Amino acid sequence: MTHLIAVLPGDGIGPEIVEQAQRVLTALDLDLAFETEPVGGAAYAKHGHPLPPTTLELAKRAKAILFGAVGDFQYDSLARELRPEQAILGLRKALGLFANLRPAILYPELANASSLKPEIVSGLDIVIVRELTGDIYFGSPRGVRSAPDGPFAGEREGFDTMRYAETEVRRIARIGFETARKRNRKLCSVDKANVLETSQFWRDIVIDVARDYPDVELSHMYVDNAAMQLVRAPRQFDVIVTGNLFGDILSDEAAMLTGSIGMLPSASLNEAGQGLYEPSHGSAPDIAGQNLANPLATILSASMLLRYSLDLGEAADRIENAVKRVLAEGLRTADIHEPGTTRVGTQEMGDAVLRALKKD
Ligand code: NAD
Repeated sequence: MTHLIAVLPGDGIGPEIVEQAQRVLTALDLDLAFETEPVGGAAYAKHGHPLPPTTLELAKRAKAILFGAVGDFQYDSLARELRPEQAILGLRKALGLFANLRPAILYPELANASSLKPEIVSGLDIVIVRELTGDIYFGSPRGVRSAPDGPFAGEREGFDTMRYAETEVRRIARIGFETARKRNRKLCSVDKANVLETSQFWRDIVIDVARDYPDVELSHMYVDNAAMQLVRAPRQFDVIVTGNLFGDILSDEAAMLTGSIGMLPSASLNEAGQGLYEPSHGSAPDIAGQNLANPLATILSASMLLRYSLDLGEAADRIENAVKRVLAEGLRTADIHEPGTTRVGTQEMGDAVLRALKKD
C-alpha cells in the first residue's frame, strides 16, 4: 500500500530542512508518495491565506504531514487570522491533533551543549506526551468578573476552568501507553492529584486504561516533583504523559536539557494515527537560504513519522542510527559546532545522513 505524505515546507529555513528530510525518506525505498503544497507565509503570498483549501485538502487526505516551519517578520503586520502561525492552529483543529509527542534525546557527542553536567544528561532519551486540545487552556467559563465569594468577594478577579472529559483522558492515556510500548515500556503519568479534582480524575482514568497494557510499567508523579526530577535525574524517565498545562511547561524544560534546538523533532497525532511531524524550532528567518540550518530535527521528525503514523519502526531506527553515526563522525552544523568537530552546511549534513544510511 502506498502511503501519501503531505509535504508542507513553509517559510524561512523550512524548505531547506524539509528537502533534506524528504531525501532521507526517499532513500529508504519505502512505498511512499509525496505531494507538496505551500503553507504559512509562502501560502499567503501565493493564495492570500496561510492555510489555503488546497493545502488543507492535501493534509486531510495524507497519512502524515511533513512540516517545516512557518513565520517571517514580513508577515508580522498582517491581521491575526492571516498570520503564518495560524496555519498550524488550523491544521491542529481540522485534523483533531490532540496528542503532542516531544522526544528529548541527548546524544553523548552533544552532552556539552546541555546546561546540566554531562554525567546527568548524557544518553538521555525520553518522550513527553502532552494533551494538546483540552485542559485549562480551552475550558470554559473563563474571563474577568466580580468575585462571587471568598475573602476578596466583590473585587474584580480573573478566572479559568481546568476540565477534562473522560474521553480526552482515555485517548491521551492510550497514546502514552502505545508510545511506551514502542520504547522501554515505562510510563509516568504526571498530575497534581493531591490538590486538583481534575488531576485525581485524570489519575483514576489512567489507572483504568492501564488494565489494557499489563506489559507497561505505570507510575504517577506530582508535577512539582516531575519538574525537579527532570533536572535531578532525567534518565529515570522513558515516557511521560500529562495534560496540556503541565505538558507545556515540562516539554520545554525537557527540551532545554538537550541544549540544541536544531536537534529536537515533534509529532502531533489524532485518533486515526494521522500526524503532523515538525521540528520543535521555528522558521529561523535570520539564517534562511544560507545553507546554515541544522536539518537533523526535521530528519528525526521524518523518523517519528515512520514510527508513529506508518508503524515502520525498523525504517525509523535506520534513520536514527544514521543520525547517531554522523554525529559520531564529528560532523556538525553551525548551531552545534564545537572545536575539534567538522562544520558542515544543511545540504552536506543531509548528504552525510544519506551516506550513513547506505553503510547500515
Ligand atoms: P526560531 O526557532 O525560528 O529561532 C530561534 C533561534 O534558533 C534563531 O537564532 C535561529 O537561527 C536558531 N535556529 C532555529 N532553528 C535552527 C536550526 N534548525 N538550525 C540552526 N539554528 C536554528 O524562533 P524565533 O526566532 O523566535 O521565530 C522565528 C519565526 O518562527 C517567527 O515568525 C515565529 O513565529 C516562527 N515560529 C514558528 C514555529 C513553527 O513553525 N512551529 C515555532 C516557533 C516559532
